[in-house]
Amino acid sequence: MNYFSGIIDLPWWGYGIVVLILTHISIASVTIFLHRHQAHRALDLSPSISHFFRFWLWFATGMVTKEWVAVHRKHHAKCEKEGDPHSPHVHGLRKVFWEGAELYRQQSKAPQTLERYGHLTPDDWIEKNIYSKHSAKGVALMLIISVILFGPIGLTMWAIQMLWIPVMAAGVINGVGHYWGYRNFETPDESKNILPWGIIIGGEELHNNHHAYPTSAKLSSTWYEFDIGWMYIRILEILGLANVKHIPSTLILDEQKKTCDEKTVVALIEHRYYFIHELRRAMDSDSQNLFTQDLLKEIQSVWEDKNAKIENLAEKLESWCKKVKCLQVASLDVFAQKLRMSVLK
Ligand SMILES: [Zn+2]
Ligand SMILES: [Zn+2]
Repeated sequence: MNYFSGIIDLPWWGYGIVVLILTHISIASVTIFLHRHQAHRALDLSPSISHFFRFWLWFATGMVTKEWVAVHRKHHAKCEKEGDPHSPHVHGLRKVFWEGAELYRQQSKAPQTLERYGHLTPDDWIEKNIYSKHSAKGVALMLIISVILFGPIGLTMWAIQMLWIPVMAAGVINGVGHYWGYRNFETPDESKNILPWGIIIGGEELHNNHHAYPTSAKLSSTWYEFDIGWMYIRILEILGLANVKHIPSTLILDEQKKTCDEKTVVALIEHRYYFIHELRRAMDSDSQNLFTQDLLKEIQSVWEDKNAKIENLAEKLESWCKKVKCLQVASLDVFAQKLRMSVLK
């Protein structure tokens, strides 16, 4: 055996495939374990699979669960405002894209951030004594194994993996995901869906959908969108290794329904960013009148008023629809009719 060529000898493209598989496992660990399971509690994972992800993140990325979760929850809490750890609208796209990992590192070392947002993350013996305490030793071990297995090219393979998460997650999602792409939902932030097919970054490409339904385990929302992370979660669920706790309810139109009732209010609140998106489209198509901003504010007040009784909200919504009818704008009238028929399946 020639030591310098490593234990495993592959054609050049074979090394590329190995790197792609290993980086993909890291991406899956970030999106399924860190993001959907730990930060948002959208699904439960069995102890075995959960531990596999924890080990892999230590071994292949050096990231500490509590730190990642705290920085991410802070992003949702302060989104696009001062205090958002990585908004391109606060820090500039260039900085978030090229120095995203550094922005993350600064925040992850801030004790206030960890205390305020890092709750309910792993705190067992192995976390305290190995994963958190020796967070850099996993990637060092990976480097040694990589060189033993593949020889000198193992160093390059390892370096690509070390760059993959900072570039893809910190740079592309945190930067581009709040800058370029399309929107299905009129969320109060600038989040965008970068691509409708979420494969390379595990489904995280669908970032506008995620901000619309942050506690959902599924990130795709229309028939042409694909979320590979969701596919893995469904496979894990079929194998009995995961349990999905939340995905958005399906919105349907009940043709018999002619007025807004409590069911309409429930549907509107769950899918509020979809409705605002539709309302804005209805406004753009053939009305530019002075009432539109007031109409938006009025419909927003339905979910902003936390103390109102649901029956009063239904009445408010019905009078909103009547007011829209008086405006005699066809596209707004269609919107109001659809709203009246909307219910959750
Ligand atoms: Zn975001
Ligand atoms: Zn999130």
